[in-house]
Amino acid sequence: MKFISIVVPIYNEAENVLHFAAAVKEVMENSHYKWELLFIDDGSRDNSVQIIRDLQRWEPQVKLIMLARNYGHQIALTCGLDSAQGDAVITMDGDMQHPPALIPVLLEKWEEGCKVVQTIRKDTEGVSWLKKETSRLYYRFINAMSTVEVYSGGSDFRLLDREAVEALRQYREHDRFLRGMVSSLGFKRAEVPFVAPPRFAGKSKYNLGKMLKLATDGVVGFSVIPLRWAFYMGLVFALLSFLLLCHALWEYAQHQVVPGWTTIMVAMSMFGGIQLVIMGIIGEYVGRIFTEVKNRPLYFVKHNMDCDNDEETHTKCG
Ligand code: UDP
Ligand code: MG
Repeated sequence: MKFISIVVPIYNEAENVLHFAAAVKEVMENSHYKWELLFIDDGSRDNSVQIIRDLQRWEPQVKLIMLARNYGHQIALTCGLDSAQGDAVITMDGDMQHPPALIPVLLEKWEEGCKVVQTIRKDTEGVSWLKKETSRLYYRFINAMSTVEVYSGGSDFRLLDREAVEALRQYREHDRFLRGMVSSLGFKRAEVPFVAPPRFAGKSKYNLGKMLKLATDGVVGFSVIPLRWAFYMGLVFALLSFLLLCHALWEYAQHQVVPGWTTIMVAMSMFGGIQLVIMGIIGEYVGRIFTEVKNRPLYFVKHNMDCDNDEETHTKCG
């Protein structure tokens, strides 16, 4: 019998866990697969862990890995992909925005031979117009910049065949944007559109800082085009400054040098600004080289628990 792993990162989702687990159970019990529900606790500070541990007493399929601290959604997913045992691994959020009712559709596509089944969020209920618009613009921007195609509305709700999981596990980069990484894998893929309902309970755990970090990782992690743009911008402004120089010399020849204050101020602030932007772009790449060169483990696991094994494993890292 084929084995399916469902990987769910959890960060302060105490109000959602039980409802989510029940919904997954209902779907999987009606299928003919063996399954595990693998929660990755990403350093929750509420009682999510306690609730999952209680749940494990009744549900042998429920597994829990506790990360040593809050590493963020993408690293928690990575830890899940490293640990899941299934012939296919489904990753999804634990807040019901990725409807468990869609799991059979993903499995059907997998059975048809697709190695990557990607869901595409057509709309999100209960989300502000601003968040939808910025997300849409971001995907247009990233696709203009990047060498791999990242689908607009692509979410981290997807099924990966064991073969794709093993391929993805070889990507050990630190600034991770899984949507882009999965797109760059290749493999036969299928898409499943869906409308994301509002969260079952609680608030989004992606604050502005986390969202900006993910957005920057998506662009800088997959493309050197911003560096090339910085170079082109440098060229354009070098040409402009040459024209300005000609103008200054001409003014000098005309003995009209004193009233040049405005020109100097404008030129200084303009070039200063442009240089800072370009240095910032280069800095993003240098910073990434720095984290990659240190090559620290992506995460540490605090506890690794399943039903029969309650002992602590402090050493595991990935
Ligand atoms: N999450 C996580 N670590 C974090 C932030 C979020 O593991 O630092 C989990 C969260 O518990 C949820 C999933 O990632 O299961 C998606 O987060 P959220 O629903 O807050 O994101 P949104 O749907 O608002 O983009
Ligand atoms: Mg959500």
